[in-house]
Amino acid sequence: MIKKILIANRGEIAVRIIRTCKLLNINTVAVYSTADKEAYHTQLADESICIGDAPSKNSYLNMDSIIEAAKGTGADAIHPGFGFLSENSTFARKVIDAGIIFIGPEPEVIDRMGDKSNARASMIAAGVSVVPGSKECIATKDDCIEMANKIGYPVIIKASSGGGGRGMRIVYEESDCVTAYEQARSEALISFGDDSVYMEKYLVNPKHIEVQLLGDKHGNVVHLFERDCSMQRRNQKTVEEAPCDVLTQEAKERLYADAIKAAKYVNYDSVGTIEFLVDHQQNHYFMEMNTRIQVEHTISEMITGLDLIKQQIRVAEGKPLEFTQDEITLQGHAIECRINAENVKANFAPNPGTIKTFHVPGGQGIRIDSAVYAGYTIPPFYDSMILKLIVHAPTRLEAIKRMRVALEELLIEGVETNIEFQYLLFHDPIFVSGRYDTSSLTKFIEEVK
Ligand code: ADP
Repeated sequence: MIKKILIANRGEIAVRIIRTCKLLNINTVAVYSTADKEAYHTQLADESICIGDAPSKNSYLNMDSIIEAAKGTGADAIHPGFGFLSENSTFARKVIDAGIIFIGPEPEVIDRMGDKSNARASMIAAGVSVVPGSKECIATKDDCIEMANKIGYPVIIKASSGGGGRGMRIVYEESDCVTAYEQARSEALISFGDDSVYMEKYLVNPKHIEVQLLGDKHGNVVHLFERDCSMQRRNQKTVEEAPCDVLTQEAKERLYADAIKAAKYVNYDSVGTIEFLVDHQQNHYFMEMNTRIQVEHTISEMITGLDLIKQQIRVAEGKPLEFTQDEITLQGHAIECRINAENVKANFAPNPGTIKTFHVPGGQGIRIDSAVYAGYTIPPFYDSMILKLIVHAPTRLEAIKRMRVALEELLIEGVETNIEFQYLLFHDPIFVSGRYDTSSLTKFIEEVK
């Protein structure tokens, strides 16, 4: 039984994890950088330890400092949250070597699925449908051109260690191929310290649909249905919803079956997500796996009534799943809006600063996951997402209406935010129809400029 968890993260996800720990009577240790002394997660935990100064590399990415904090406070487990060290197998190994439970999958699984090119190879071996593309990393410029001709343009060159939409280049014709290859490699090296890249067919305007999974150490894996995360700006999600009403039931069943097959193939034993691209004929292709809790896990919680952090802690303790697939039922529709401190008119540039007014909506089916408050100064060093506004309603249309009302009530003053932008988006006919794809948000931005 886990008695004390150190949360190796900050912001709303740290707060989210602490809340569940409190419900489970598990003691919590927050870690914070010097910039986060006044942060909500620092105040909410039972104990708080400063692990370094503001830049992430000196604090939230400082493995030894975090592990020392866990040892010093007698924490028996570490929850990595998302981002930072959450998909770093070296960190997971160090935690385990220190005799502490890592709340996540086995390090070998992170290695296998965390590297996108390795993950593709595993999924091909597992018999899961993947985006057509290269089997291995591309070693030379000539290989790159040859591969692109084989796959057929357009193609996308992607960093094997990629994330957050970085290290990707779309190529429409042969004359651009070598430049794109070199750019993708150098961006990958700068961002991830690894310049290996691979190639996929670039699907035209697909949907990004992902399946939430939960596995235990006894070989059981269940899914918690799908999320539509196609509303993206520069490959970054802005709005997510569950379920996806425009997919046929047959297409959904195929997605769930492939997601479970993928997870079982790698003995997946924690919460995780398989991301797919779905084309206009509703064919799906494996894109990548996230071996951690995700920002948008909240909407899957709303439609199933489950607490995914609680489940993640239980399976990390070695307990078998509390329910079978048939016992998980889908209720209603949930949507999440990411509220960022950013200046929409200045090309969505981050806008840190002090929050002067902070008023949040309430009422039936409204959930706020946040770590900010009136008087709080958002530090410039981290992510600009300050709040997740989540609604749950019996139907999709009711959820959209509920979100409109909630966005009208939400008031944040002192920093620029995307609240008004989100409000406009919830009136966009394409969004409301549900028939949007990964290109729709970019088109919408052009229209409202
Ligand atoms: P990251 O891990 O950096 O977020 P992903 O591999 O998840 O990168 O891709 C992010 C987004 O890029 C996808 O949601 C999709 O919109 C787009 N994308 C990625 N691969 C393809 C592809 N082969 N065809 C079309 N769009 C793609």
